[in-house]
Amino acid sequence: MSDIIQLLPDTVANQIAAGEVVQRPASAVKELIENAIDAGADKIRLIVKDAGKSLIQVIDNGCGMSVTDARLCFERHATSKIREAADLFAIRTMGFRGEALASIAAIAHVELKTRRVEDELGTLIEIEGSAVTRQEPAALPAGTSICVKNLFYNIPARRNFLKSNPVEMRHIVDEFQRVALAHPHIFFSLHSDDQELFHLPGESLKQRIVHVFGNTYNQRLVPVEEETTIINLKGFIGKPEFAKKTRGEQFFFVNNRFVKDPYLNHAVVKAYEGILPPDSFPLYVLFIEIDPAKIDINVHPTKTEIKYEDERAIYAILQSAVKRSLGRYNITPTLDFNQETGFSHMISPKPLEEITPPSITFNPDFNPFEHTKSGSRKQAPSPSIPQNWDTLYQITEKKGDTQLGLHGNDADVPGEHVQPAKKQPFQLHNRYIISQIHSGFILIDQQAAHERILFEQFCQQLENRQGASQQSLFPQTVTLSGPDFQLIMDLLPDIQALGFQIREFGKHTFVVEGIPADLTSGVSERQVLEQLLEDYKNNQAALKLPKREKLARSLAKHAAIKPGMALSADDMAELIDKLFACEMPNVSLNGKPIILTFTLQELSARFERD
Ligand code: ADP
Ligand code: MG
Repeated sequence: MSDIIQLLPDTVANQIAAGEVVQRPASAVKELIENAIDAGADKIRLIVKDAGKSLIQVIDNGCGMSVTDARLCFERHATSKIREAADLFAIRTMGFRGEALASIAAIAHVELKTRRVEDELGTLIEIEGSAVTRQEPAALPAGTSICVKNLFYNIPARRNFLKSNPVEMRHIVDEFQRVALAHPHIFFSLHSDDQELFHLPGESLKQRIVHVFGNTYNQRLVPVEEETTIINLKGFIGKPEFAKKTRGEQFFFVNNRFVKDPYLNHAVVKAYEGILPPDSFPLYVLFIEIDPAKIDINVHPTKTEIKYEDERAIYAILQSAVKRSLGRYNITPTLDFNQETGFSHMISPKPLEEITPPSITFNPDFNPFEHTKSGSRKQAPSPSIPQNWDTLYQITEKKGDTQLGLHGNDADVPGEHVQPAKKQPFQLHNRYIISQIHSGFILIDQQAAHERILFEQFCQQLENRQGASQQSLFPQTVTLSGPDFQLIMDLLPDIQALGFQIREFGKHTFVVEGIPADLTSGVSERQVLEQLLEDYKNNQAALKLPKREKLARSLAKHAAIKPGMALSADDMAELIDKLFACEMPNVSLNGKPIILTFTLQELSARFERD
């Protein structure tokens, strides 16, 4: 047999490499912006169409390329950033592998326009699937513009594998935010389908954070700074009361490179111990400067992982620096090490108005079971579902479900003459409701039940377009980040149908004049809106629900009673009534049961002696 091993042609090798470097439009965005940063640009514009699927363009005012370099940059392992292996240990640039442009050119239509300041004419190159189709001199502004069109045009499997536009756009915005935060002195803008989502002038880090996340972040940030022989640390952390339910606002940069590091994240979160609301994630934007010789960034092709020589020391430094900052700004708990949740114990010499309460606040007097005036809320129960919980038993019995029935001929069972229900329900640990039924008892998760009730109610409001609203005495303006503003705009009719009175009010700003009647007064409009938005985005990633359902779900989750809330007997009775009036009374919004049934038979079997 003859020899069978062959070297792959470059085009094929590039395509294979592209699989690692470019997984989705956002990865191309990241590579192109990093190249612009490495080129020393202080103005970088990103333009995308169709969530990057049809166009990604990055325009910079950096150093540009010579004719030869413009041609060479698409070759694999062509880089101006390292020359020998030793350089790998002193990397200060974002790129260094010389793979990105070669990979991108292998799987897209690319147009490069570039000119160095010192050259009179620039170079235009078009390249498709690694083959140069056009190259000519051209009059161009100094700097570089790269257009990447029809990503994955020659790899249909890859193209089909891409997610919906909102999901791909989210990834792009994530990458954009990361580089924008890492380089606050650089001007960045992001246009998506002709909408300007971000316009970030060169500024300080604090201003940049505020610009990226919205005006309200100004009061949320606490500076962190620490210089040691191992690392220099600087940046900002968020006050605990603004912690979000998602990790979205956590950024580590090591030598200005965004990294994901669970270990370092743990160090920061540990510093917040005792002062964070449960299940919430504090904001942080932290920069670690470290001798490049002490880290290895070569571990992953997309370079979000790093290996450190001195992991433990870095952990300790981080944790103590964050703790100290929290302490300096009077947001650490008292020195009671055994306390559970810190808010009530917080000491603070600060004037009260400077301390913002935890962001999810509901009026404890609010009774979610009070009927609202608008009759539309009360939905007719569907015919197959009993309106009253105590008819549950009769129905199941009629169906001949002997499992549930207890007919008094089971001699071993004490107390077989069960009261024909109508006993008052009672609450267990302010969390569950126990209610007796003919065959035993049911246990209801109060939060899940209320979420279900509100969810179905909100869905109906969205359908009828008539959510009850409660006017605010003092309308509030809310300024959001570009993408969040755009999201609200997209959802506006539905948000209004839920009872929000809200309208556009200048750049990236809304004025909120009323919120849904089911939410209590005393909650800031801004908080309600922000929470809704966050929950919605949260759901967006996790669930494939229609837009409206997601919205209803977010608001229901936000407004529902939580474990720990004491309920009166009437409250409970009404909750049970409304639950059984729901279309799906036994499925929580997370797909778990809301009601557990315990039969006397089961109980007696468990008590039985052998
Ligand atoms: P790397 O960034 O790892 O060096 P790339 O494939 O991303 O590899 O880029 C190859 C080379 O092309 C870079 O080393 C740089 O010299 C040049 N280059 C790429 N983008 C730009 C740009 N926007 N401005 C100037 N030069 C660039
Ligand atoms: Mg690069």
